[in-house]
Amino acid sequence: MSEQGGAQTRGTVIVTGANRGIGKALALGLAADGYPVAMVGRSLDKLEAARGEAADPDRIRCYAADIARHEDVQAAVKAIEADAEAIHGLVNNAGITRDGLVMRLSPEQWQEVLDVNLTGTFFFTRAIAPLMMRQRSGRIVNISSVIGLAGNAGQANYAASKAGIVAMTKSVARELGGRGVTCNAIAPGFIETDMTADLPEKVRTDMLKSIPLKRFGAVSDLLGAVRFMLSPDAAWITGQTLVVDGGMVM
Ligand code: NAP
Repeated sequence: MSEQGGAQTRGTVIVTGANRGIGKALALGLAADGYPVAMVGRSLDKLEAARGEAADPDRIRCYAADIARHEDVQAAVKAIEADAEAIHGLVNNAGITRDGLVMRLSPEQWQEVLDVNLTGTFFFTRAIAPLMMRQRSGRIVNISSVIGLAGNAGQANYAASKAGIVAMTKSVARELGGRGVTCNAIAPGFIETDMTADLPEKVRTDMLKSIPLKRFGAVSDLLGAVRFMLSPDAAWITGQTLVVDGGMVM
């Protein structure tokens, strides 16, 4: 087993939205580091397919939950706690976009994005906090976005949800710090996944011009930041938002 980061603690790391995109890359990467990983997603079949791509699938277990449904999250966390020796970390990654200019954004589009991105992050944090507090250790890593820091036309709902995550991160950090639990956020810039695949060419070209490092991010570009937040090296860091975006937002 690799001694990478805090993997030698052998506590399980939970990753939500782990069947594709950034969540899948994080789950497989952390499992390769030696962490037992609990992959969470809406479809067990999709999770199992992603798990099948791992170098050591035995290190990964899959749990079905729609993170916007409180009862799903409670059941998944109960099952994870029953299966795991200890919980080291929670990566709140699952998220969606429902874009539209604010005048045309429907109340349903607004609510759906808030329900998944912000309330789902709250549900998972709420469910896992008692155990981490009892353990007197734990790392919560929330995936926000540079859009939550800078805003973006057509994404008022998404920006609000991601800014909410930054503020929630600070509040949770203050609440749980006394019990040895840290809570930090990662704010990715433009990462090539299904979420960004449909953007018009003009938007992509303009965006590329605004990235000092002159390329879009790959899912693998986020693993180092998450790995760091889970590692002993980040033991005295909490309430922070680390921007990982090739320099786009400064
Ligand atoms: P993605 O490829 O669209 O994947 C989203 C993941 O979230 C999928 O596994 C999806 O599952 C899951 N998910 C969605 N709604 C869910 C729900 N209600 N319950 C459980 N799982 C749910 O997106 P991504 O690009 O990897 O994004 C991952 C995270 O990074 C998101 O929070 C996103 O906002 C953030 N982010 C992405 C970028 C970027 O440029 N890509 C930039 C900044 C931040 P299904 O397959 O079942 O839909």
